[in-house]
Amino acid sequence: MAFNLIELPYPDTALAPAISAETLSFHHGKHHKAYVDKMNAAIEGTAHDSASLESVVAAARGSNAGLFNNAAQTWNHAFYWHSMAANETAPSADLAAKIDEAFGSMDELKAQLKARGAGHFASGWVWLAEKGGKLSIEETHDGDTLADSGFNPLLTIDVWEHAYYIDHRNARPAYLDAVVDGKLNFAFASENLARGSAWTYPN
Ligand code: MN
Repeated sequence: MAFNLIELPYPDTALAPAISAETLSFHHGKHHKAYVDKMNAAIEGTAHDSASLESVVAAARGSNAGLFNNAAQTWNHAFYWHSMAANETAPSADLAAKIDEAFGSMDELKAQLKARGAGHFASGWVWLAEKGGKLSIEETHDGDTLADSGFNPLLTIDVWEHAYYIDHRNARPAYLDAVVDGKLNFAFASENLARGSAWTYPN
């Protein structure tokens, strides 16, 4: 069974001007699709063909870099689309309390997400994650993921250049400002926190 390229959870104009429809058409329709297609080609006819995406990621980690990167990028991008919304959504009372506990305030969480994203060297991902009841900001490089990490990922932001180059050229901080100030889906983060285990790919 091949994995599907998930649909965007909003119209392709929903995130503009932070992220334009043109960026989404490339990022979802070309980049994300290519990861899904390459993964599907790699698993066709193997035992992975009937596995969950999370188990493909975990099995390929450390043993099959090509499959791992495409499977992890399939997962990361789906999670990223859900991490954003046309208008910022509100955290649950539990998430708001944990943000205050870990960062002092929502404003400080946002400042730290921007700083970590801007400071991340080359391609990768910045995450708000939970482990043992505590929130933290984590970074993964290139295609690496928190899907099978022991962290419960709550939100992610893609900091590969393809995420922002059409709209913001090389100005990664401008992209981060635009996404972090108004497009984060804290309702999705709250669902992830309440579940208490990592989100699973909706194939
Ligand atoms: Mn990407």
